[in-house]
Amino acid sequence: MFDLTGRVAVVTGGNGGIGLGMARGLARAGARVVVAARNEHKSGAAVEELRALGSDALSVRTDVTDEHSVKALAAAVAEKCGRLDILVNNAGVNIRVPAHDLRLEQWHQVLDTNLTSAFLCARAVHPHMKRAGAGKILNIGSMLSIFGASFAPAYGASKGGIVQLTKSLAVGWAGDNIQVNAVLPGWVDTDLTRETREQFTGLHERVLARTPSGRWGVVADFEGIAVFLASRASDFITGAVIAVDGGYSSVV
Ligand code: NDP
Repeated sequence: MFDLTGRVAVVTGGNGGIGLGMARGLARAGARVVVAARNEHKSGAAVEELRALGSDALSVRTDVTDEHSVKALAAAVAEKCGRLDILVNNAGVNIRVPAHDLRLEQWHQVLDTNLTSAFLCARAVHPHMKRAGAGKILNIGSMLSIFGASFAPAYGASKGGIVQLTKSLAVGWAGDNIQVNAVLPGWVDTDLTRETREQFTGLHERVLARTPSGRWGVVADFEGIAVFLASRASDFITGAVIAVDGGYSSVV
């Protein structure tokens, strides 16, 4: 039920953090993983690691904010792998500036990387999935898909948008047997949050105190959900929004 042997999975931002965590899960389940990110050094290291797990992994240098780069990614995967079954829209950035100080180009950078990218990548893979008669798309949201934070207006808008994009794609492509779901991570220890912890004193302790599971998330927490949502175990689940947060979003 969870076997992904023979499937090809593209993971944007799959060269580190949560993306690499998900890529490891997909590789262990048998998928051929394609790492799509900008930093080729990091992507090379990720590919080596995924190969050691038994995946015939490869990387395609991609900037998800660039429509041409995304189209080239889908074409390269189709050419090199002959199919494209799973897309994980994981690439993301945050710029921590309150709305009154946020510059328009910063707003666009965050929206382009976190939200428009998911539309571009989904649109680029759709013909391949439709032709194959099946597909799985996972979009990565955040606790800021639900809650507001004064320091992250653009990030919150992008992650709220991810949820509604997920539902629109799920409804639109259900007839093509493509399931589209969103994963909302809680606070997870990665490069992204290491910076935030340095910027906001006391954040680390506040997250620990609020999270019922009593710990920060680690990237390994995302292996299982990636496999579940990419496999036939979730064939009747589409448009769902699943928090992977140790209970953070359930507590008052
Ligand atoms: P990291 O900073 O560790 O990883 C971000 C990844 O995105 C990198 O692999 C980076 O690769 C890639 N990326 C950024 N911009 C682009 C671009 N223009 N084109 C292609 N790839 C890009 O962050 P996380 O692992 O923490 O975050 C992953 C996702 O999870 C993000 O969507 C984030 O918003 C979300 N998330 C994270 C949480 C956390 O607590 N860590 C909580 C909630 C959500 P490269 O630089 O090589 O391009």
